[in-house]
Amino acid sequence: MFSKEDIVKFHEMKTPFYHYKTDVLKQTLQSIVNETNKYNYHVHYALKANANAQILSLIQSYGLGADCVSGNEIIAAIENGFPTDKIAFAGVGKSDEEINIGLENDIFSFNCESMAEIQVINELAAKKNKIAKIALRINPNVNAHTHQYITTGLEENKFGINKWELEDVLSIIAQSKNVKLMGLHFHIGSQITDLKAFKSLCIRVNEIQEWFYNHHIIVDHINVGGGLGINYYNPDEELIPDFVMFFKIFKDLLKLRPQQHLHFELGRAIVAQCGNLISKVLYIKKGVNTNFAIIDAGMTELIRPALYQAVHKIENLSSDNSILETYDVVGPICESSDCFAKAIKLPATKRGDIIAIRSTGAYGEVLSSNYNLREKVQDFYD
Ligand SMILES: *Cc1c(COP(=O)(O)O)cnc(C)c1O
Repeated sequence: MFSKEDIVKFHEMKTPFYHYKTDVLKQTLQSIVNETNKYNYHVHYALKANANAQILSLIQSYGLGADCVSGNEIIAAIENGFPTDKIAFAGVGKSDEEINIGLENDIFSFNCESMAEIQVINELAAKKNKIAKIALRINPNVNAHTHQYITTGLEENKFGINKWELEDVLSIIAQSKNVKLMGLHFHIGSQITDLKAFKSLCIRVNEIQEWFYNHHIIVDHINVGGGLGINYYNPDEELIPDFVMFFKIFKDLLKLRPQQHLHFELGRAIVAQCGNLISKVLYIKKGVNTNFAIIDAGMTELIRPALYQAVHKIENLSSDNSILETYDVVGPICESSDCFAKAIKLPATKRGDIIAIRSTGAYGEVLSSNYNLREKVQDFYD
């Protein structure tokens, strides 16, 4: 991933920083374009994974749409070139102000998560004399077999409308003159590596479509969300996720009606592998059973390990010492959860060595904070 020149340069730079490889992002996007062109599928990039302007403008240049979960994400998408008619807006708690941003920009779709929300969108659209295009986010009750904090498609989760509510939802839509139902939306979770979950989703979507068909409704758009996982353990073996297999599952199993369009909302799978968090070792400290490698990046720059026990591959780019030692790699923040990895093997490591935390392009920099009054983390592109 890194050349000798990169490493020399990193030693001279102020750390920590996010380093983005635009060629990895371009190859990823090209692979998506190749696969989706085969089937005429539409992909919306989920901005919440990484909303840096450079990343957004590159992604939109490949023709992708945007999937937003806040008013400010809608604005960021528009500012960075995404066409408004390719912007989907999801989220269980859209504020009136955010709904108005969507209405003013005539976005592609409001993905509605409750009956109350449909009524509010209808009222706000009526005030503006507009018809809001809506999709119903339906909870398919499919287990994504991922971490409980990033599982979203079970009936117990806060997301989406459950199947037993659908009759009532249809009657609300029938009474609402300023919304138009144009789609069904699903999203079962994130970092899904067992593709069987997507197969189960296809089967559920077919059943739900059948239900709508029996109610004389055929929507124009089916949106199956995102969630495709990436290889955090061996990133170099799989820098580009297996989009061939992913899209083919839907081609093989999902029954589209004539004229129906299929949409996806991918976040992590697009941006995770192009980013790495680069840090320096501040101190090595002997522990009871391990050594601590205390680095200058912490949970303020990358919270995923502390938030949901996420695993990232960690490399010492400065040392090719063949003697491996055991380290807990930890940050400087005053929280015991500020730990990137426990008891991992690294080449003998010393103060000043460059540490790369791999696969951090998604849900890394966007989730950074200035807790402990830390400086905003820098980013570099090459
Ligand atoms: C987060 C999210 C996505 C993207 O999820 P990834 O796992 O990053 O692909 C897609 N759709 C919705 C509604 C989301 O909330």
